[in-house]
Amino acid sequence: MNDAPDDRPIGDATRVVTAGRRAAWTHDGNGRGIVNPPVWRASTILYDDVATMRSAASLSDPHALFYGRKGTPTQWSLADALTSLEPGAAGTMLYPSGVAAIATALMSVLSPGDELLLVDSAYDPTRSLTLSLLKRYGIATRFYDPLIGAGIADLIGERTRAIFLESPGSLTFEVQDIPAIVAVAKAHGLVTLLDNTWATPLFFPALAHGIDLTILACTKYVVGHSDVMMGSVTAGPDHVAALRDTSHQLGHCVSPDDAWLASRGLRTMAVRLAQHQRSAMRIATWLDARPEIARVLHPAFPSCPGHDHFVRDFKGASGLFSFVFDGGDEAARAAFIDTLALFGIGYSWGGFESLAIPVDPARHRSVTTRADAGPIVRLQIGLEDPDDLIADLDRGLAAYRAVRG
Ligand SMILES: *Cc1c(COP(=O)(O)O)cnc(C)c1O
Repeated sequence: MNDAPDDRPIGDATRVVTAGRRAAWTHDGNGRGIVNPPVWRASTILYDDVATMRSAASLSDPHALFYGRKGTPTQWSLADALTSLEPGAAGTMLYPSGVAAIATALMSVLSPGDELLLVDSAYDPTRSLTLSLLKRYGIATRFYDPLIGAGIADLIGERTRAIFLESPGSLTFEVQDIPAIVAVAKAHGLVTLLDNTWATPLFFPALAHGIDLTILACTKYVVGHSDVMMGSVTAGPDHVAALRDTSHQLGHCVSPDDAWLASRGLRTMAVRLAQHQRSAMRIATWLDARPEIARVLHPAFPSCPGHDHFVRDFKGASGLFSFVFDGGDEAARAAFIDTLALFGIGYSWGGFESLAIPVDPARHRSVTTRADAGPIVRLQIGLEDPDDLIADLDRGLAAYRAVRG
């Protein structure tokens, strides 16, 4: 289940269907097999004899049974699938959450005395991690403007070791000039890490763009059904060994049932993303034309900072974006959200259902300021009929107007 028979590179939708389904994990050795690698639940691995046990301990093959923490075909299949979605990847490690993936990727790269450059629009728990735990371990963090581009060279000092990117940024969707930052990083021997949760490898193949370690909150689009927490880090050949060692030393592993659910989600990720993209574009376009809305913060719109980078580098847009009201206060924003019937009120995203939350990005910024026309709402556009979502949003806007006066 790898490349097409004529060696032509296969498409993304084909790859998410075929990836990770190695015969060794699905076949019985007698010419028969099942479609999905089964759920192997294991802590103890039993060896036939002492010699086999001894040889297993010295084996570096990630696909050999050794101990429950190092996984079984159920977890290997998912990790293998994520690796094959990233051209240039050498391996993938799985984590119990996206935050655990971010923390472990950073710890695999940084040592006491190092400085990290972190994008100012990073996911808030990433900020907290650097400002508390990493700081306690002697690692300093310097924030940078998401639109800094090649100007990041001016921030690099003797202790700088790595650059962390997230593009588009959390809550406000600034699109970074990733090629420019990667070029500066390479010239200075720095490691680059990217939180690629929004785009996934289908819309932004990160390692092919020169990123060293790419991180997904699989909780979002890989799982896709709002019922499992998981994270992954995929690394190129220069970084995979340190990533694997750090993960094992920290004891990270994921349950086979969760890995199986995430694999099930992955099989439909290409068609889900295509629909998320279509519906979100339609709804963002509708909102953009409304008098109540000052600005849509969606990478595919020219009103979004870094839009040109999006057009140049990305293959698509997923279903998460924000918009800024033209005036109004907290109560008017709450009236809008509380009126929606098809949009749940909840963090996380990437499932089949639509969500709406109030966001206040200015509270989570260190070196950039915001001058917004009004309060901001973040929407996750799910897989419902977009006409129904628009009708719902229309009712929400009426409630906003009624409170706003
Ligand atoms: C949700 C999210 C995470 C964290 O993932 P969890 O699985 O919830 O820990 C990391 N980065 C981004 C951009 C996210 O949206």
